[in-house]
Parts: sequence; C-alpha cells; structure tokens
Amino acid sequence: MTKFSDLGLPEMLLRAVEREGYETPSPIQVQAIPPLLQHRDLLGIAQTGTGKTAAFALPILARILADRRRPLPGSTRVLVLAPTRELAAQIAESFRAYGQFLRPALQVGVIVGGVAHRPQLDMLARGLEVLVATPGRLLEHLGTRHCVIDKTEVLVLDEADHMLDLGFIIPIRRIVAKLPKARQTLLFSATMPREIAGLAGDLLRDPAHVSVAPVATTVDRVEQHVVLVDGAAKRDILVELMRDASVSRAIVFTRTKRGADKVAQHLETAGVGAQAIHGNKSQNQRIRALDGFKRGDTRVLVATDIAARGIDVDGVTHVFNYELPDVPESYVHRIGRTARAGASGRAISLCENEERPLLRQIEKLTRQTLPFTDRRTAAGSRQAEAHPESTSRPRGRSGAGKPSGQRPTGGGRPHLASDGRNHQAPKSPGAHAGRPSQGHRARAPEMR
Ligand code: AMP
Repeated sequence: MTKFSDLGLPEMLLRAVEREGYETPSPIQVQAIPPLLQHRDLLGIAQTGTGKTAAFALPILARILADRRRPLPGSTRVLVLAPTRELAAQIAESFRAYGQFLRPALQVGVIVGGVAHRPQLDMLARGLEVLVATPGRLLEHLGTRHCVIDKTEVLVLDEADHMLDLGFIIPIRRIVAKLPKARQTLLFSATMPREIAGLAGDLLRDPAHVSVAPVATTVDRVEQHVVLVDGAAKRDILVELMRDASVSRAIVFTRTKRGADKVAQHLETAGVGAQAIHGNKSQNQRIRALDGFKRGDTRVLVATDIAARGIDVDGVTHVFNYELPDVPESYVHRIGRTARAGASGRAISLCENEERPLLRQIEKLTRQTLPFTDRRTAAGSRQAEAHPESTSRPRGRSGAGKPSGQRPTGGGRPHLASDGRNHQAPKSPGAHAGRPSQGHRARAPEMR
C-alpha cells in the first residue's frame, strides 16, 4: 500500500498530514500528487469526499516551500477558484491545516461575494501566497486592480461542473485571460460535460489524467439498510445482527474512541469475537488487531472513521454503522470498506431518533432513499412524534401498524426480530429479486 512518505512530499507536509490523522493517502492523492510535484497540469475526475483537496493542496504547498518568497502587494502565487463560499472557506482551511508548520505562516486568503469589501482589500494589499475565490467577487477586484494575477504560478479550478451550473463559465474565462500563459493548471470536476471538456482542452497543457470512482459507484455496489432503533437497544440489536451467519467479516463504526472500546467489549461479552481499533491504541496494538482481522481470527473490527481510513482488507462482508457519521461523506467511505475490488457488500446502519437528520443528509449526498426496518418501541416512536424536528421523516402512524421500509434483499439481510415488528412495505415495481434499482427504492410514503 502506498504511504504518504512514498509520494515525494517534503517532511514538513508529512508532519502536517500526520497531525491531521491521515494514515494512508486516498486513491486520488496517490495518483495526483506525483505528477503535480513535477508541475504538470492535471485533469481530475473526482468529487468531494475523495480527498481531492489534499491531492492538490499538498503538492502546491511543496511548490511554495521550494521557493519561499514574500508575496508582492495585490498578488497571489496560487489562485483556487471554487463555486461556493462554503467550499472556498473549506479549501482555505485545508491549506492552513496542511501548511501549519510553515514559518513564517502561510499567507492564505479567501475572496467571496456577499461580504464587505474593505477587509478583502486590506488582505489583498498585503499580498498572498494562496488565494481561494469565487469568480464573481474576484473579477471585481481584478477590474479595480486591487488584485493582480499576471504573475500567478498555479491555477486550480475546483468543482468545475458546479461552477458551470452556476453560470461562472464566462467569468472564469475572463479571469484566465489575465493569468500568465506559463503556469500550472489543475481542473477538478465530478462529471465531464462537453463544456468542461472544452474548457479543459483550452486551459490544460498535456495534463495528467486522474479519476477516482464517483461516490455513487461505490454506493451502488453496496446493499444498504437502515434499522430505526431506540438508543438504549442499539448494543443488543447489534449483537442480534451478528448472529446472521453471512456476517463473516465485519467492521462496526462508532463515532468516538470510547464508543469503539465499549462496543467491542459488549460484543466480546456476548460471544462475538471483536477488537477495537482507534487513535488511542498504540501502533503495535493496531497492527495486531488488524492482522487478527485479516487472518480471520477476529470476526469483527470496531473502528472510528480516522482509524478505518487506512484499512484495506478484502472480503469484508458487512459494514455496520453503530452510529451515523456527522459528515455524510464519511458514510460513503465507511461503506466502501466492503465492496472492495469490485465485490459487493452489505451496510447496515443503526439509526436512533436523534440521528435522523444525519440520515437525511446521507440520503441527499448519495441521492438515494435507504430502505429501513423499524425496531423502535412504541415509546421511542412516540418520542419521535413529540419532537418531529429531531427526525428526518415525520412518522404518520405508530404502534402495531408501524410502517417500515423496503425489506433488504439478498442473502445477507439483517437478522431482524421475530417479534412481528419487521413489517415490510410492498416491493416497488422497480425492485426485483436482486438489488432494487436506484430511484425505485420502495418506501412507505407515510414515513417520508
Ligand atoms: P475532500 O474530498 O478533499 O473534501 O476530503 C474529504 C475529507 O477527507 C476531509 O475531511 C479530509 O480531511 C479527509 N481526508 C483527506 N485525505 C485523507 C486521508 N488520506 N486520510 C484520511 N482522511 C483524509
């Protein structure tokens, strides 16, 4: 497996990456960093959640480090264009994080619309090493010459297809016209519509092409199911799900390190072989836990998100989300631990009432409606009804006639209660015996 230290990055950046808790580079980082360190142009097909920000920020920082100089007033050495304020702020944050050991401190600035001009003018007057901007406001500053980019060395267009959707194509071309011809250009896009291909053809010179599977591709191969539960019943339901013989190698995700330890202990006590792996364990403990899991001595690995990033084990049959992640992209990373190397896999998420807004975010990001089974007690359901704002899907009914989602299909369906609470909605016309096609996932309308 490629390590960050194999990629040719300076030590100062490797330290920052370690501080951020990254253990191994993501596929886009492995593919993009080496050609970018050679100052090549790059066309990247990747979306948020793949680690693409570090894939471009780290080699750009390496370039800055190799030739550190005081920026000229009004100028920037690197220009990153992003479609939204939020993304611009996030990218700048990432540059700061990866450049945290640079001395003097890295000069990073953000220029976006909808905020006062004055602070932006002051910031530009000092000169920047990295400027992250949305196109509209940047053009204004270029027009008044408060910002000058004729010496800018690197241009990054992030989420180019999104910028196109927002009507930024003309502003982008105007901005590019003010950049020097001799520069390094990177273009990232989740999709490649004709206009983006045209833009790439005009802007990039002999680019390296990198592409990582879009989120949907991974998601699509994993059979997913949600079990609505009362918080207090989670541990026992997890043990029950583990009784399914098809769960031969599973990863259980928790949000916290303490949670990982507790869940592992509970599983062990219930006779399910489990080991926890997280940042508080020593390197040796982690290696031992992982080796045991790979060999098949340990059936279940309980992990936090960070700890699981570097886990590359084939044959993981199931991923269980004991708790849903705060960031929806993490859901995609988590379930991608199964379905590796083209295989299919199963992901089961235990979701208590408080987590339903998180579930909704996940469904939005992955553009799917997850089938579910309702295992809440009547009291838990009543509580959800009393606080509908804490649930993503207000429930229409409760009690014995509790609605539930489409049943999981295939051999590895969750081992559900035999207490008659596993009611199933009729199959949708699009759902055949195998996995239901996206967009045709059956659901109980009253739940959504
Ligand atoms: P991005 O696709 O750039 O938005 O990154 C998605 C998330 O993954 C961010 O929260 C990053 O901090 C995190 N991340 C990026 N690279 C890695 C890595 N190699 N290991 C673990 N986490 C990472």
